[in-house]
Amino acid sequence: MKKYIIGVLTIVLLANILLPMDASAITLREYEQKVQQYQNEINSKNNEIAVSKKKLDEIQKKIADYEAQIKAAEEETQRLEEEIQKNNEEIKRKNAESKKIIEYYQVSNGENAYLEYAFGATSITDMIYRMSIVEQLTEYNDRVMKELQALIDENKAKQEQLRKKQEEMKELNKKLAEEASKVKGSISSMEGMIPNLSGQMNYYQQRVKYYKSVGCDPDDQIGIDCDRPTPTGGNIVGANGFVFPVQASFRITTGYYWDQGGHKGIDIGKYCGAPIQAVAAGRVYYVGSGKDTYGAKMVMIVHNYGGRLVYSQYAHLNGYAVREGQDVYAGQTIGYMGNSGYSFGCHLHLEMSEDLGWDYPDPGNYYSYIRHIVNPYKYVPG
Ligand SMILES: [Zn+2]
Repeated sequence: MKKYIIGVLTIVLLANILLPMDASAITLREYEQKVQQYQNEINSKNNEIAVSKKKLDEIQKKIADYEAQIKAAEEETQRLEEEIQKNNEEIKRKNAESKKIIEYYQVSNGENAYLEYAFGATSITDMIYRMSIVEQLTEYNDRVMKELQALIDENKAKQEQLRKKQEEMKELNKKLAEEASKVKGSISSMEGMIPNLSGQMNYYQQRVKYYKSVGCDPDDQIGIDCDRPTPTGGNIVGANGFVFPVQASFRITTGYYWDQGGHKGIDIGKYCGAPIQAVAAGRVYYVGSGKDTYGAKMVMIVHNYGGRLVYSQYAHLNGYAVREGQDVYAGQTIGYMGNSGYSFGCHLHLEMSEDLGWDYPDPGNYYSYIRHIVNPYKYVPG
């Protein structure tokens, strides 16, 4: 499935890059539509961000609400705890009181004080009265202690309920925090896309501005009806209009020996940072260091030469002056001479192939590109 998607994407990408070159050139209107398309994407991303931020706000409010409830539950648990302790102390006190009364009763039941107390009664009625007071007092204390114990049990049950509620809320808050971090992640990833989208939009805006400044009309095909490429910059121009990628006073350090299984292109030496120019008008097909095993920085341009596709590749650069998808004219600076990748000193490795390029038509098939490598001198003036 993944392979299929990559395949489709590659075809779509290549179609975008190649079709306008092959069939019809891009019109100014299409550039303007590109600007609009990026503007729409930016707007829709901004809307998505606003929606996500609102959602994040709601989640954070919920979290704060649960936190307040958890805190209230904690305070209530504390209050109940104090009440339980108070009641426990009261029970102890009553217990001690009853003990004393009972002790007194028992002692009195022996031969001493009680008898003294009882017999100290002035009458039998008085004696019965005195005995019943002892009973009443202990009975009263028992009842109070039972009531207090009931209160304690009730408070403990309340505490248990609160504990369960707190646990539930803490669990909910954990889930909410996870959700919040997901939303935050998606916001920051969407925000991360905006600069790239505005960069793209800005690029197309600049193109529109430029094409308008050179008198292109909306339906004009760029490079055909207007803004026709002209070789500039003092390059050596070949009979076919191709120019040499480096301006005067360079030297060829390695020739083309690929047909003998050797070197796939030509090496051109000048100085580090010397500007490198497109050999013909075309569209930038690749900019980066991912296509070379040794990480050489390179630019690849696809040219429409009399209806066939010709690729030019500029390797070992130390910097780029173009971006993928950009249209360039012959002699336009596309990057700077460098020493990146498998290289021993600043130089330009210029490679060219015909009809089939890297990734075309079979994605990832480097050999389809290799098989169609040609001597750059077939095109560039030598
Ligand atoms: Zn080389």
